[in-house]
Amino acid sequence: MIELKGVCKSYGLYEVLKGIDAEVARGEVVVICGPSGSGKSTLIRTVNRLEEIGSGSISCDGNNIHRPMPAKELNRLRSRIGFVFQSFNLFPHLSAIENIAMSPIRVKGVSRDAAYAKATQLLERVGLTEKANAYPGQLSGGQQQRVAIARALAMEPPVMLFDEPTSALDPEMVGEVLSVIKGLAADGMTMMCVTHEMGFARDVADRVWFIDQGQIVESAPPEEFFSRPQTTRAQRFLSELR
Ligand code: ATP
Ligand code: MG
Repeated sequence: MIELKGVCKSYGLYEVLKGIDAEVARGEVVVICGPSGSGKSTLIRTVNRLEEIGSGSISCDGNNIHRPMPAKELNRLRSRIGFVFQSFNLFPHLSAIENIAMSPIRVKGVSRDAAYAKATQLLERVGLTEKANAYPGQLSGGQQQRVAIARALAMEPPVMLFDEPTSALDPEMVGEVLSVIKGLAADGMTMMCVTHEMGFARDVADRVWFIDQGQIVESAPPEEFFSRPQTTRAQRFLSELR
């Protein structure tokens, strides 16, 4: 469903991504891990073109994301790829339900009633029915992140990308956010998730990509990756986590 071919990217002279070749199948959950600065965020951001690439190609359902296209088309393509960041980025002056309903109304032209009905369902799905009218400042970090996930889902994207969705949270809130993401996986959502939560990776990932210095050094099912990492770099990474 998502295909990366020879993806290279540099910041000035510094080459961050050095030829990434990889695929994510429909319904697959890929967890991306690797040392700090290895290029994980850059890679995931290229998938909905928050970052441009230097060479190579990335396609979603055969649609080349990095071809020249008018801004409107790019926005439409982007709206089909949900993105959840480490920082929740909710609109502070909008309530939870307004945050969720806004894009479908503005971008997709969905009616207000339909958008609010959908947002209500999504609030239930992330366990926040009672917080519909709360503002982000009145919500905990974990609750804000669950609203951010619901907001991304409101556009009904076939793919969801997560960049360390729990790393800005207090430890007691990590579980509630991971369980929402696990629920999405169980429903068959195609996902790419950068995370340091290796327990989550073991439970939910179909495949783990280990990235080091801008390359996918290992790509394996979690049971293989965690018990038999093939490279010394991955072995070192895993031993430092423990
Ligand atoms: P972390 O685990 O710390 O989030 P990461 O694997 O997500 O790290 P990236 O954020 O993708 O790493 O960064 C990869 C490299 O690219 C780093 O060396 C970083 O300093 C550099 N980099 C990232 N963004 C920029 C930028 N806008 N300009 C210049 N260099 C950048
Ligand atoms: Mg990062």
